[in-house]
Amino acid sequence: MFRADLHCHSTCSDGTMTPNQLLHHAKEIGLSGICITDHDTIEAYHTAPAIAKELGLLLGIGAEFSSVFKTLSVHILAYDFDLHNPAIKKLCERHSVRRTERNRAILHNLSRLGMPIFEEELLAMGEKSIGRPHIAFLMMQKKYVASIREAFNVYIGDGCPCYVPGEAISSEETISIIHQGGGKAFIAHPHLLVHANKIKLLLELPFDGIECHYAKFPPEKEKKWIKIAQEKNWLISGGSDFHGTAKEYIQLGCSWVNEETFHKIFQKPL
Ligand code: AMP
Ligand code: FE
Ligand code: FE
Ligand code: ZN
Repeated sequence: MFRADLHCHSTCSDGTMTPNQLLHHAKEIGLSGICITDHDTIEAYHTAPAIAKELGLLLGIGAEFSSVFKTLSVHILAYDFDLHNPAIKKLCERHSVRRTERNRAILHNLSRLGMPIFEEELLAMGEKSIGRPHIAFLMMQKKYVASIREAFNVYIGDGCPCYVPGEAISSEETISIIHQGGGKAFIAHPHLLVHANKIKLLLELPFDGIECHYAKFPPEKEKKWIKIAQEKNWLISGGSDFHGTAKEYIQLGCSWVNEETFHKIFQKPL
């Protein structure tokens, strides 16, 4: 049976498998297709296409962009864009600068609370899009907190005392850039959004689709979003949000799309 997981992370952002390991793992568990959606970077696509081809896996082009809509943090999945498009490359570059600056500011805040972490230690944690999961891991390693969860809940989660968001790149602009790059913009994991009023307005933006099938959420949680997709004539995507051992309870392929949907989303798979 054809199954394609359209949401997973590699070591180019906060996943723990390299693109090579991720694609081999996808093959091992019998997936037919995959899309690597690292946070704010397309670095995985330097190596992934050749490996996917060798393994006989269909590879869709993707990324998960961080955006802000009326102060609400919204993740937007970009699918099937042109990897060489200058506007997409520029967006990745802006996020890279944003992350460097705001990671520095977060480390400064942690240090003021007596939890020093050197920037060099953080940079050694990842390859490209380094973020809060890496910081949380170091906090745990240094025994400043007992768990990643505690790091987020008490110190670095949205709205917590050490959190700094950095440059806010709006959802509107992100969608527009994805469209300029010939891609499709999907709302990632809508089930995790809170603030009903803002969601209502967010749904008025020119998205192409919505991630109705997500992680291990049961069908009853998906119903609401499938209904919205049908009303708006949006595409429906699905994926696990696999992060490797950084989120041990989520397995690759636990959410997926079928062959017909894969080809509706990806006109130009690799
Ligand atoms: P960043 O992109 O650096 O702002 O970090 C956000 C990422 O941290 C999300 O994409 C998740 O992978 C992860 N994350 C967010 N909240 C939590 C949490 N409470 N516990 C563990 N990981 C989280
Ligand atoms: Fe993540
Ligand atoms: Fe996300
Ligand atoms: Zn994700």
